[in-house]
Amino acid sequence: MKICPNCNTQLDDAAVFCTNCGTQFSASQPQPQQQYAQSQPVYAPFFDPYDHTSEYDPKDISDNKVFAMLGYLLGTIGVIIALLASKDSPYTMFHVRQALKFTVVNILLILITALLFWTVIVPLAFGVITCILTVIKVICFFQICSGKAKEPAIIRSLGFLK
Ligand SMILES: [Zn+2]
Repeated sequence: MKICPNCNTQLDDAAVFCTNCGTQFSASQPQPQQQYAQSQPVYAPFFDPYDHTSEYDPKDISDNKVFAMLGYLLGTIGVIIALLASKDSPYTMFHVRQALKFTVVNILLILITALLFWTVIVPLAFGVITCILTVIKVICFFQICSGKAKEPAIIRSLGFLK
């Protein structure tokens, strides 16, 4: 939609002159969206506030990938192994924190389900949420394979262990 600057008549976007007052429009009007895109840095459209990959040393990531995966693959045991074997690696520690969030959520879910097992809906919800968490863990696993440090979906909304 185009608006005539002279008489404020609403006109078609392709209009070259106003059908009401005859005012001519210049052929190349500046596109505000293009100007916005040009003023942004190149990486801006892909910026993810939950992606901390750039905060970690690429060598640290490649050396400690395996330990970073353990927390997701083996749960608490994996976290303990990672802490013992690779506690000096900031990359491993990042994933240990994410894996601990999964563990905390899991414990909370088990407690809630244990208290409310007599309702039908809570055990069902527990099953569904457990499946979703498993999918998120698998996604985390593949992100580590490609050397990323992203906060897991859903789990990242927890306000502790950033
Ligand atoms: Zn006009």
